[in-house]
Amino acid sequence: MMDPCIFCQIAAGVIPTPFVYTDDDVVAFRDIQPQAPVHLLVIPRRHIASLNEAHDEALLGRLMAAAAKAAAAAGAAQYRVVINTGAQAGQSVLHLHAHVLGGRAMAWPPG
Ligand code: AMP
Repeated sequence: MMDPCIFCQIAAGVIPTPFVYTDDDVVAFRDIQPQAPVHLLVIPRRHIASLNEAHDEALLGRLMAAAAKAAAAAGAAQYRVVINTGAQAGQSVLHLHAHVLGGRAMAWPPG
């Protein structure tokens, strides 16, 4: 049966997606609806629904390190990393992902 999680399918290569960065635990790819000139999604290969279910602190460290490497690979030296957690915070895909946004000035606070 096909995995119902779209990001699991991307990580597994079932949905062909160019990776900006990849390692044993993490993949990064471009957001399909970019909100900035650089807009990457950095996800664990393993299915974790959100930051609230992410109890593996070593993996979270690797996810953050991968975000910096992916930003560098995409040519962004200055960028914002965002993890929307829960519907009210804007999470629409229930597979943990860090947005890496760069290539333009950012406003604060975010909406
Ligand atoms: P969030 O709203 O924080 O859950 O972010 C989910 C992000 O996934 C959105 O920015 C979508 O544009 C992005 N997205 C959804 N499907 C895909 C896909 N197949 N490839 C790349 N990005 C996607």
